[in-house]
Amino acid sequence: MDSSLSSPPAPSSAKAALQPGSQWHNGFASLPPVFYTRLQPTPMPELAMQAGNDALAQDMGLRPDWLASSEATQVLGGNALLPGMDALASVYSGHQFGHWAGQLGDGRAILLGEVSADAAAQGQELQLKGAGKTPYSRMGDGRAVLRSSIREYLCSEAMHGLGVPTTRALSLVTSPQPIYRETVETAAVVARVAPSFVRFGHFEHFAARDDIGSLRRLADYVAERYLPQAAAHASGSAQRYAALLGEVAERTARMIALWQAHGFCHGVMNTDNMSILGLTIDYGPFQFLDHYDANHICNHSDTGGRYAFARQPQVAYWNLFCLGQALLPLIEDEATTLAALERYKTALEPAMQRALGAKLGLDPARSTAPEAVAAVVNPLLALMQQHRTDYSLFWRALSQAVADDSLPALAHWFHGDAGFETWRAQYQALLQPGDAAATAARMFAANPRYVLRNHLGQEAITAAQQGNWTPFQRLQTVLATPYAEHPGCEDLAALPPDWAQHIEISCSS
Ligand code: AMP
Ligand code: MG
Repeated sequence: MDSSLSSPPAPSSAKAALQPGSQWHNGFASLPPVFYTRLQPTPMPELAMQAGNDALAQDMGLRPDWLASSEATQVLGGNALLPGMDALASVYSGHQFGHWAGQLGDGRAILLGEVSADAAAQGQELQLKGAGKTPYSRMGDGRAVLRSSIREYLCSEAMHGLGVPTTRALSLVTSPQPIYRETVETAAVVARVAPSFVRFGHFEHFAARDDIGSLRRLADYVAERYLPQAAAHASGSAQRYAALLGEVAERTARMIALWQAHGFCHGVMNTDNMSILGLTIDYGPFQFLDHYDANHICNHSDTGGRYAFARQPQVAYWNLFCLGQALLPLIEDEATTLAALERYKTALEPAMQRALGAKLGLDPARSTAPEAVAAVVNPLLALMQQHRTDYSLFWRALSQAVADDSLPALAHWFHGDAGFETWRAQYQALLQPGDAAATAARMFAANPRYVLRNHLGQEAITAAQQGNWTPFQRLQTVLATPYAEHPGCEDLAALPPDWAQHIEISCSS
């Protein structure tokens, strides 16, 4: 159709996109060429903007009305660049399913640049996922199908709504271009946003090549731009890189605690899918638990259950250990590296206590012994496991029962199991008498009414594939504020239908 398909994308006007005082640039491109390949997105025909995130646009320094413009469709779909953008794909390596996978890289993600007040300030990077082949595409086509793009958009925004650190989604642009997976599907591009998309695998890449100069350069770049505790130490000092590892370990712990508290399964916790900023990244075969099952495997391709729900905290440590090994040439000393990694364990436990304590409604101002929280949570999870209790719905019902002083009535969730009555008495003993309203308020702010269940995502996908974006938009609205009630959207907070348990999600996207 139009000539832009065969010619490189034409630069467009920058001013229309940005709020006054913001500019496009690309901090990552200030690193030497060994870190990336400069390239342009590959255009697609008949782009259509299907979803835009006005709140995020505003926060990151874009003009709120820009997303509705045809220029935004062209830029965010990969058919045009704006002046100041400096498009590139970065190289990384990683461990996949426990094995060294060698070189990977941005096979279908293209970093366009970042928006910030000035080139020195830390901005928000903008990356297009599914924008065409790169030198790191290997056998892939550089594209993302509509199905997986809808899942990524909705889930990254759902995580943000829940308060879990994550990459964000700015827009979803579709094209009728056919994409070949198990069947023929169509293409989409999600524009995702984060301060940085650097992964553990970026560090592993240079360590594996014994390119210690580049490894140090990357560590300095990340420390100076994003990790102030590390940047407080001099470049070249072992302390700087140990502090970097320790800070990443703590951020990862805080993220994992929230995954576990919300029943979120990532599905592909390979080291190339681990963010150096402790953000949830790479939404593939993820799932929010329906009924509680510690052993749940959400990725149909994960036959061994390496990434089963309850294993995630351990896997995160394994991944951090790989990062530690990669940083060892800079930290120089194994004991110091192990001590930095220890910060994961020392941060995870209190982060879990905080997250679970909030779900139980405990007053953060009164310190509750960690053993006391565990003594209440563990038997509850055992009951849920045994009775296949819906995880999110039960926590919300518990919040309501505290508000209504009707805890005993929850026994039906456990089919009259006497263990529930024992648990209830134990839980009630932990709560402050006469504090029900405040306790319930804390619980309603920690136990979401809405989570992106697999079947809800699937219904939005099926409708969108037929041109109906209403289910997608309803989810977009409720998931932005998932702790609030949304009258008229009760169907999105219901038990999953029977067919939900037969949905198979694999790495194919
Ligand atoms: P993932 O399992 O999505 O984290 O992907 C692992 C690696 O495969 C990364 O380097 C991706 O960029 C690459 N990859 C996945 N899908 C595609 C695709 N359709 N085209 C090119 N590269 C891909
Ligand atoms: Mg990935």
